[in-house]
This record gives sequence, C-alpha cells and structure tokens, in this order.
Amino acid sequence: MANVYLEKVLEQVKINNPNEPEFLQAVKEVLSTVEPILDNHKEYEKLAILERIVEPERIITFRVPWVNDNGKIIVNRGYRVQFNSLIGPYKGGLRFHPTVNQSIMKFLGFEQIFKNALTGLPIGGAKGGSDFDPKGKSDTEIMKFCQSFMTELYRHIGQDVDVPAGDIGVGAREIGYMFGQYKRIRNAYEGGVLTGKAISYGGSLARKEATGYGLVFYVREMLKAHESSFNGKTVTISGSGNVAIYAAEKAIAHGAKVVAMSDSNGCIYDFKGIDLDLIKEIKEVKRGRISEYLDKHYDAVYTERTGVDSPIWEIKTDIALPCATQNELTLNSAKMLVENGVLAVGEGANMPCTQEATDYLLEKGVLVAPAKAANAGGVATSAIEMSQNSMRFYYTFEEVEAKLERIMVNIFNSCKENADKYGCSGNYVAGANLAAFDKLATAMVAQGVV
Ligand code: NDP
Repeated sequence: MANVYLEKVLEQVKINNPNEPEFLQAVKEVLSTVEPILDNHKEYEKLAILERIVEPERIITFRVPWVNDNGKIIVNRGYRVQFNSLIGPYKGGLRFHPTVNQSIMKFLGFEQIFKNALTGLPIGGAKGGSDFDPKGKSDTEIMKFCQSFMTELYRHIGQDVDVPAGDIGVGAREIGYMFGQYKRIRNAYEGGVLTGKAISYGGSLARKEATGYGLVFYVREMLKAHESSFNGKTVTISGSGNVAIYAAEKAIAHGAKVVAMSDSNGCIYDFKGIDLDLIKEIKEVKRGRISEYLDKHYDAVYTERTGVDSPIWEIKTDIALPCATQNELTLNSAKMLVENGVLAVGEGANMPCTQEATDYLLEKGVLVAPAKAANAGGVATSAIEMSQNSMRFYYTFEEVEAKLERIMVNIFNSCKENADKYGCSGNYVAGANLAAFDKLATAMVAQGVV
C-alpha cells in the first residue's frame, strides 16, 4: 500500500479496535483495494471519508434473560450494530450462535454496507444477534428466547429505521416468533420490520432460496466471462444450512454434480452426486446431523472434522462454494484446492476465505467470487420483500427469481467493469470493493459531515 492516508487510517483502526480481529480483517480487506479511488480523490482525506466509514453509527448491546424448560434462568447477550444508514434504513441479519461477539457483529455489519450498496437498492448496513446457541433447544425455549430478545430490540428497529433478517441460527421459525412479539408490543402490523418471514404473513416467495440461488447466478456469470460454465462440473459446498442447500439446488439445475456438503462436525462425500432431498429432510425437517446421510446412502463417505481445516476442501472439485461461516477456508485449504485443480471459488458465507487464502487463490489464477457481491441475493430479495410489504401485494416465485437473477447479473457486471477500469481485470474481489466504495463515498460527499 502506497497511499499514506490509507495507511494512517488502518493504523488508527487497529488502535481503536483492539481484540477485534474479524473486524480488522474485514476493514483491511476492503480498504487495501480502494487505493485507486483515493488516489483520484485527494479531497477524501480532508472529508475524513475513511475515518467515517469504519466507525459504526451506533452499537447497541443488551441483556437477554429467559427461562429454560428446567426452570433455570439463562442470561445471553444481544447486539445490534447499526453501522451505516447512508443509502437506506439499516439492513442486515441476526445471528444466533455461541461464537457471536462484538468483533463478529462489527465485521458483518461493515461487510453489509458494501454488499447492500452493490445491490443497487436503497438499504444501509447493519448486523445483530446473540451468543445464544439454538442447538438442542426445545421449540418453547427458542420462542421464549426470541420473545425476550425482541422485547429489547423492538425499540431500536422499524420498517423505515432498521430492518433485521435471518442469518446463522435464525430462520423462518425464529423470525416468526420475533415478529409476533414485535407486533404485540407495538400494537401495529408493520410487515416490513423484519424480512425472511413465512409466506403466510408477508414473506416473499423465493426469499428462502435467494442467497444460494443468487450465489450460483453470480458464479455462472463469472464463469461465462471466462468461457466456462457449471455444466458437467463437480461442486463441493461447505455447510448444509439455508445458503448451502439452495446453492446446491441451483448448481444441480445448471448441470453441475454436487459431490460434498458439510456441517460443523464433518463432511459427506457422495461420488454419485448428493441426494439433496435427503439433506433437506435431515437439516430442514429433523434438524439433525449431516452424518445421518449415511443411514440411507451406505456408499457415501463421512469424514469427521478434527482440526481447524475442514476436510471438505481436501476433496477434488472444479468449483468450491464455502457456505458455512467466516474464515472456514484457510491458506492450507486453498493450497489443497489449487493442488486438486480448482477452477473457481464462490463465497456464499460472509468472509469464508481468510485473507491469505484469497490472496493465494488469486495469485494462482483461481476465479474468486467475493461474498459481498456473490451472496448479496439474500439481502436484495429481502428488499424485494420490503417493497411487497409496502405495496401490500405479492409477486410470484418466478417474478421474484427473475428480479433476483437480474440483480445478480448487474452486480457481476459492475464488479467486472470496476476491475477492468482500475487495472485489475479478473480480480472480482477488488472489483466489488471498488464499485461499492465509489458509490458510498459519492453519497457521503453529497450528504455532508454526518
Ligand atoms: P444456517 O444456520 O442455515 O447454516 C449454517 C451452516 O454452516 C450449518 O451447516 C452449520 O453447521 C455450518 N456452520 C455454522 N457455523 C460453523 C462453524 N463455526 N464451523 C463450521 N460450520 C459451521 O446459516 P445460513 O446458511 O443462513 O448462513 C451461512 C453463511 O451465509 C453465514 O456466513 C451467513 O452470514 C451467510 N449469509 C447468509 C444469508 C442468508 O440469507 N441466510 C445471506 C448472506 C450471507 P451446524 O449445523 O453444525 O452448526
């Protein structure tokens, strides 16, 4: 990095945010690629554009007390990071997972600003959640937790203020319980206050599928730009949650063979191609473990995860789609993928590749679809859900999917155009950051010092 302003801000971010490695990683990843814009806009230093964009507008943390099925009182910590409202109401998911902390909330909120800008829709960036672990909890416990969480969160959100959605550990069931509690407290039916709702009370068709489908649309465009396609390719997908399942569905529809999927305990490999209906039954209906796949497919192989590196990246594949969590694809894993001849990596999860892994993949000529662009289909469809709520009208599944596809094609084109314009053709990681930063910085200048 040669830009002195950039270096100075990065140093200050480190000092101001000690013990927040994920947040620092996300900031460094974005800022290290926007140098060409800063070089062209010397006035950005005087306007403190970088200093303002790395500082959340507001961070809310709160106590979430609830009573479990044994009558024991449990206290969790809740968060909402309202990072940036420059181009629309705060928007971003809620994550319920024991690893949730302020650093993870801030990294996700920061990524969300850029992702939302790329969609071309009027939405700002936020993220929230709790260190609550939904695994092994009864349905009643999940409901009590969601109600307690919303009893504090409700005062900070609203359909024109901040619109949360799902993320890891938060699906339609949790959104339903939170929506019910919000409605009860507010005594008003504000349909657009949460997205990812079930269809029966204001959800959007194709929202459940949107992030995974959108990822495949983006990767398809990237492959097309390099005269390739999904057809006949093998695909490995980490995770077996919302994003992973629908990425698999769309990849199969595009003629690919998905041979491996995983959860946090291990991965399955099925050389015949994954039986996706069975995965859906295990994960969406029974909420079970992926190892149960072997109960029906005796010839599939299950490998337990033992260390930091997921065994799924040791499997030979043409296209790898990390769709589980942050930093799940390390430098070691990237080396394995390259050794096995991987063509493209499409990030379905947020920041699934470590910085070293991304750098290595790019250096070796692997096509990388960066999360903030490639997984933006989820939030884009959430915005379509909000617009349907405002109109009090529904689009059909096909209408929503067509809008999603158009948005993903546009996002890819804008990443490509920016990569080409700034002399880093083929590097869509830089292309995405440049496209989003350009839009945000322009809006910041227009809105003055706020
Ligand atoms: P889900 O909770 O539906 O699924 C998460 C999957 O990842 C599960 O298979 C889970 O396994 C696995 N996983 C979670 N944490 C870990 C971990 N620490 N190590 C290994 N595996 C893990 O979440 P989503 O599918 O909704 O989200 C997945 C990723 O996609 C996240 O990074 C999220 O931020 C991102 N994303 C999601 C969007 C959405 O619309 N849902 C939109 C954009 C991004 P297990 O069951 O064993 O925990």
